[in-house]
Formats: sequence, structure tokens, C-alpha cells
Amino acid sequence: MVYPWDLCFSVANSEMRGYVPGYQLLTPTSLAEALSMLANEPGVWKTFAGGTDLMVLLEAGRLQHSNYINIWSLDELHQIQVTENHITLGALTTYTEVQSNPILRSEFPMLCQAASETGGLAIQNRGTLGGNIVNASPAADSPPALLAYDAEIELTSTKSSRWIPYHGFHTGYKEMQIEPNELLTRIRLPRQTSNCLHYYRKVGTRKAQAISKVCLAALGRQEDTRISDIRIAFGSVAPIVIRCVSTESQLRGKPFDASTMKLARESLIKEIAPIDDIRSTAAYRLRVAANLLVDFLNDLQSS
Ligand SMILES: Cc1cc2nc3c(=O)[nH]c(=O)nc-3n(C[C@H](O)[C@H](O)[C@H](O)COP(=O)(O)OP(=O)(O)OC[C@H]3O[C@@H](n4cnc5c(N)ncnc54)[C@H](O)[C@@H]3O)c2cc1C
Repeated sequence: MVYPWDLCFSVANSEMRGYVPGYQLLTPTSLAEALSMLANEPGVWKTFAGGTDLMVLLEAGRLQHSNYINIWSLDELHQIQVTENHITLGALTTYTEVQSNPILRSEFPMLCQAASETGGLAIQNRGTLGGNIVNASPAADSPPALLAYDAEIELTSTKSSRWIPYHGFHTGYKEMQIEPNELLTRIRLPRQTSNCLHYYRKVGTRKAQAISKVCLAALGRQEDTRISDIRIAFGSVAPIVIRCVSTESQLRGKPFDASTMKLARESLIKEIAPIDDIRSTAAYRLRVAANLLVDFLNDLQSS
């Protein structure tokens, strides 16, 4: 599998860059206008947010679609709202904004860590959470954290606005439940993370500017030396970022002993389906994923 930002490293060798005059980029002045453009000519317009994935494709001569709506200047999609039960992030929230938000830092540290390990500063200033979700790379770094935090996403068209659980949004490799006339407008996180252990590990070739070989975001609570609440989400081990619900249900209520650790490894290996690709092998990913899960359980035990 090759992801857009893999292409960064091959652009220099590509024979053909995208021919810029062949593309159209229009900038609506309001969300309503953007939605009308999508509704009036279904499938003609696609969204251009931070452009950090799309520009790589353009440079590599692989940007197939020609007409884009530039949503960057839509204030409605940049806002962060906090209520007693939720924090709601506009789809254009950047990685830099994620890291500097005090509520995200204290209650959703895995999302902040994912943001801090995404690309370099330029990408963090421009790349958005909405773009990361809809780009739908199985190796993306914020989706495992969003899955573990039970995020919901809002999809908006001229006709309606619907909130759906993020878990289930991706239905297959680069396939997802968004209609051509819809924009992803907001991401909502329930503020239910108190007394939880938050465990986020991105394993890549380097500490910075690396694409994940395996990424785990896990959240857990222990009660009376047993696992009481557990959420496990992985990136780079399946065609989509996945929540390991079967392993979660097998582990809930179990004590922290050797047989639980064995069960965790066995269950996880059945639930994920990593592949060999240019970054790693399936065997390495299986082993590292299982080791990370056990490491998380050990941390949870001593938390
Ligand atoms: C050098 C480099 C390093 C990178 N490193 C990482 C990394 O470490 N981890 C990682 O996860 N990613 C990484 N990326 C990928 C990229 O930065 C992220 O996926 C980013 O979040 C994409 O957001 P964007 O706003 O730039 O998306 P865009 O490029 O604007 O769009 C991406 C896709 O999403 C669609 N889209 C965007 N916003 C919306 C919306 N609101 N509604 C509907 N559709 C929408 C677009 O139509 C397009 O198909 C890297 C990219 C580069 C170039």
C-alpha cells in the first residue's frame, strides 16, 4: 500500500508533476455556499482543506480529480467548543491547535501526542483532523486516538446534518460513509476520560517525520486489580484503522495475570490483519502490536 505522503520521497524522481492550469480551486465565503456547490453539481467538486495530502498527489502527478473547493477560510470549521460533556472540534482544527488546547492536553492526551508526532511543524500548522479522517489512510496517526476516545463526527449537506460514531465510518480501504454532497464539519469527543490510563505509541523508523509501522491508542481503567474499562485502537495493522472490540470484550473483567496477557496476544492476533509493505512486514507488525498491547496492560496494572 502506498499512501500520499510516501510519495513525498519519490516526487524528486517522478517524471511528471501535475499540470496546475488543469485544476480548478474555488474559495466559497461561507459554509452554506460550499455546501451548495457540492449539492448543485454532485461529484464535480471535492474538498481541499489544508492540502497536505492533496498537494503531495499534485506534485507526484497523481491528483486525478480536477475541481476543488478550498474550505480553509470557513471560520465555522475552525472553531473549538467546550460544554460540560463534550469538546467539539471544527474539521479544520490543525495539529498545532490540538496541541495548544488546554482541555485536549489534560483530558485527551493521546490526541495531542498523535498531533505532536504527525509530520513536522509545517504539516502540523496546516494539516487538519478532518483531512486526516477523510484521507482515510490506515496508517494515519490521529484516528486511533479518536477511535479510543469514542469520537463522533458530523457530516453536513444542504439538506441535513448528521452525527455518527467515528467507529464504523471507514468501511474498507479508502471507503467511508460520506456522500459526495457532504462535508465533514465537526468532531465531538465525550469528556469521559477521568481516572483512565491513556497509552499512545507510534512505532516508526524514526522519532520524527515517520509513517507508522504500528500505532496503538488504548484507554483503560482498573478496579480491584481487574480490567474494568478498556478501549483498544490500532493503525497500520489492517486496511482501516481499527477498534479491537473482540479483544476488548475478552479482556474486560479479567485480572492482570499471565493467562490474561496470553489471551490478549492470542485475541489481538486474530483480530488484526497486517500486511507486508514498503515500511514493514506483517510478521513484525503482529509481534509489535501484541507487545504494545501487553505493555499497555502492564502499565494499566501499575496505574
Ligand atoms: C511530509 C508529510 C508528513 C506527513 N506526516 C503524517 C503523519 O506523521 N501522520 C499522519 O497521520 N499524516 C501525515 N501526513 C498526512 C497529512 O498531513 C494528514 O493526513 C493531514 O491531516 C491531512 O489534512 P489536510 O487538511 O491537509 O487534508 P487535504 O490534503 O486537504 O485533504 C485530504 C483528503 O480529505 C478530504 N477532506 C479534507 N477535509 C475534508 C472535510 N472537512 N470534509 C470532507 N472531505 C475532506 C479531501 O478531499 C482529500 O481527499 C503527512 C503529510 C506530509 C506531506
